[in-house]
Amino acid sequence: MSKADKGKCSYCKEIFSKAEIKDHLKACEARIKKHKPGNISSDDEIYFGILVEGFELPEYWMYVDIPVSASLKILDRFLRDTWLECCGHLSSFEIAGEIYASNPVKSEGDKSMSVKLGDILDKGTQFLHEYDFGSTTTLKLTVAFVRSGKKRRQKIEIMARNLPPEIKCSECGGIATQVCCECIYEDKGWLCDKCSENHECGEEMLLPVVNSPRVGVCGYCGMEDE
Ligand SMILES: [Zn+2]
Ligand SMILES: [Zn+2]
Ligand SMILES: [Zn+2]
Ligand SMILES: [Zn+2]
Repeated sequence: MSKADKGKCSYCKEIFSKAEIKDHLKACEARIKKHKPGNISSDDEIYFGILVEGFELPEYWMYVDIPVSASLKILDRFLRDTWLECCGHLSSFEIAGEIYASNPVKSEGDKSMSVKLGDILDKGTQFLHEYDFGSTTTLKLTVAFVRSGKKRRQKIEIMARNLPPEIKCSECGGIATQVCCECIYEDKGWLCDKCSENHECGEEMLLPVVNSPRVGVCGYCGMEDE
């Protein structure tokens, strides 16, 4: 498989394919050492291991470890910080037919994100997250693991994450470092350092290629559309 398929385990730092990493995380000794199983005391907490992936761009993926007592709000904040935030758009989760929104419209039946993961998710639950209802980035989430362990201060831990996909320059086939937020819609906006210098749309339309399913989208482009 291409490099796009590969990701790194945060605990042992080794590289695995997306298909292998779930089994690896289960067995990873470095992880098991860190996540000592709890023994039913008040210091214990239940954690979900959640696979997050780009709905249309599944080459962007992460496994995150998060306590079931955390709220959807905390997960939303984490997804924004790690992958999504450009200019404070609205977002929502869709879980079992219900919408949990960053700014809930009660008359439309929206719920708030102040709800604990453990109350609405279970092992195997699949759900969606949408960021920005204009140029939407959709993520698919799956509860892959459940474990018990000691409580910790840090809420969310990245268990594994994809390596930056190697994207080719649309002009010369070199390695793209910039993306033109105009031309990306025709799928020809990926540019290497050299080709980006002469790009017809101008420098202000170029964004850095980042390791996120929101690469090249929206407000990173500047203020013109605001
Ligand atoms: Zn590992
Ligand atoms: Zn090029
Ligand atoms: Zn362009
Ligand atoms: Zn934006």
